[in-house]
Amino acid sequence: MQIGGLQKTTLIDYPGKIACTVFLIGCNFRCPFCYSSELVLPEKIERQPKISEKDFFNFLKKRKGLIEGVVICGGEPSLNKELPKFCQKIKKLGYLVKLDTNGSNPKLLGKLIDEKLVDYVAMDIKGPKEKYYKIVGMLEGENEKLIKKIEKSINILKEGKVDYEFRSTIVPTLHTKEDVIEMAKWIRGAKRYYLQNFRPEKTIDPKFEKIKPYPQEFLLEIQNAIAPFFEVCQVR
Ligand code: SF4
Repeated sequence: MQIGGLQKTTLIDYPGKIACTVFLIGCNFRCPFCYSSELVLPEKIERQPKISEKDFFNFLKKRKGLIEGVVICGGEPSLNKELPKFCQKIKKLGYLVKLDTNGSNPKLLGKLIDEKLVDYVAMDIKGPKEKYYKIVGMLEGENEKLIKKIEKSINILKEGKVDYEFRSTIVPTLHTKEDVIEMAKWIRGAKRYYLQNFRPEKTIDPKFEKIKPYPQEFLLEIQNAIAPFFEVCQVR
């Protein structure tokens, strides 16, 4: 388990809770619009200062009573086989655990939920099925297998054994309005779906830093079109 960053306090990353965010190193996707290249690209990971697990848990022990939850984010946390043990240690200290995931490891996700090691899951929906591979920087031949895994994770969350949300970063050149409607139909009936506007900041593919985000009104227009599919659907 490699920790590549720690945000000591966050009021926005864990719904309704004061939390900290721990950033785990490594990701199996290469989304060109990703803002976390230092946790994803091996050449940048090498230069990224690491935090030891010992220091992280000492920090948590000292923060008791000041924060309520821990957001585990990446990179992609579910690549770590040690994740269940890591969550268990955090929960033992009395914290709630939120997992941010790209949904590519349904087996581990299911285990974490069944063993009650996570209290909230936020899963990314990166794109419509037919171009998922492209949006996450994989090969076309890998799409079918990938979609199966994503779909399994979607279904696990929709069972509602744990509180959850789906979310998508909407990027001009990658997503059209029709694409987002497709994505919404795919997860239709889910509890919450959030649309996030793309920010052209330190992206994995430098070309994306020059892309102008969609106007907020455009996202609101999409929100209006898909809101009936969900209990909660918002732009943030
Ligand atoms: S945005 Fe994509 S590449 Fe970046 S951490 Fe998330 S899944 Fe990985």
